[in-house]
Amino acid sequence: MPHHKLSSLFFENAQKVIPGGVNSPVRACKSVGCDPIFVESACGCRLRDVDGNTYIDYVGSWGPMILGHCRREVNAAVEEALQSGTSFGIPTWQEVELARMIVECVPSIEEVRLVNSGTEATMSAIRLARGVTGRKKIVKFDGCYHGHADSFLVKAGSGVATLGIPGSPGVPEEVVSGTLTAPFNDLEAFKKVLEQHGDEIAAVILEPVPANMGVVLPREDFLPTLRQLTSDRGIILIFDEVITGFRLALGGAQEYFGVTPDLTCLGKIIGGGLPVGAYGGRREIMDQVAPVGPVYQAGTLSGNPLATAAGLATLRVLSRPGIYDVLEERMAMLAAGLEGLSARYGITNRIQRIGSMMTGFFGHNRPVLNFEDALKSDTRLYGKFFRGMLEKGVYLAPSQFEAAFISLAHSDTDIEMTLRAAESVFKSLAQ
Ligand SMILES: *Cc1c(COP(=O)(O)O)cnc(C)c1O
Repeated sequence: MPHHKLSSLFFENAQKVIPGGVNSPVRACKSVGCDPIFVESACGCRLRDVDGNTYIDYVGSWGPMILGHCRREVNAAVEEALQSGTSFGIPTWQEVELARMIVECVPSIEEVRLVNSGTEATMSAIRLARGVTGRKKIVKFDGCYHGHADSFLVKAGSGVATLGIPGSPGVPEEVVSGTLTAPFNDLEAFKKVLEQHGDEIAAVILEPVPANMGVVLPREDFLPTLRQLTSDRGIILIFDEVITGFRLALGGAQEYFGVTPDLTCLGKIIGGGLPVGAYGGRREIMDQVAPVGPVYQAGTLSGNPLATAAGLATLRVLSRPGIYDVLEERMAMLAAGLEGLSARYGITNRIQRIGSMMTGFFGHNRPVLNFEDALKSDTRLYGKFFRGMLEKGVYLAPSQFEAAFISLAHSDTDIEMTLRAAESVFKSLAQ
């Protein structure tokens, strides 16, 4: 049995000086019924906690670490950048290089602005959409998470879902009254929203493959129909690809599904583990952003040299041929293994996977198509599974409503070890 003495001690002290002891809510592990571990270091697909326990990591910093921790090329790039200075607030050619790579890879993006987080990216994209269309309302889908800006804290996924928070105090009603919602994968409901408010809607924003209510796949006609319906009404379609960008393919979900939005938000992977976000799209829209256009958006640390270096190094490795096939194969192996084990031990667990991301929805044996379905999951059983896996040296997301990610550093052996751990946990759950 691993012990967590130092982690417990740190957590106790953390709670005295940080709200809940954490700098982002889900990290507190509340919904899985234990205290967080504190990390000492990480390498490849493994985390080491302050008590000396090691874990195979399926969180990957919530998505960014697609190459694994301490990837040689990324560390070398950051170390080199560090020697030249950590921030200037003056243009550097590396920012241009990162922008150029993003433009080259992501079908919808002709121009891109770098920011510091996914939250900043979605917040800025919405402002731009409102500025360009002169309309006020936005539509989001239940269970999609777009960061913590006011307009998006309505039926949001991620920590909002994990903690069962309906919205958030401190968000003015006037702000959220501009946010209309519909269930994901439900075109009829979406059409009704359009009928009622079509002329007031600036933008429709969605995770093309939601990962913040657990991984939910779009029905075949969902994305193409949204594209058509928004184009017909001059509504800006925004894909929030903060997770799916450079995860499902170099060109993200829009390349994977062949549906091109007007604006795209990026984050996570494009920072290679440092704080970065980006939003981009067609030139005529992006040229409405200051200083070319009137829509204001700025950032002291935007295009930060260390973050840019980590992002560039990450995207360069991802651009090598065959990477996404390897990632997909390994995740498919894990998913198939878990499916087989669930069946063998009579654990009801609906595995939903695309590319290198996956969620097992406990208590489900039919497709989970939207937030309402996801919320019916057996979160207590998930909590038991999480704790069992932690004890066996596997670190999963401390919430049912998140994805598991694998990285290039997860080998077949790591996956076999994970499946052996899962087998013994399922065995004990079945008893
Ligand atoms: C993580 C995430 C965000 C927010 O990004 P932060 O960097 O945490 O602000 C936005 N949208 C999606 C889809 C995300 O997964």
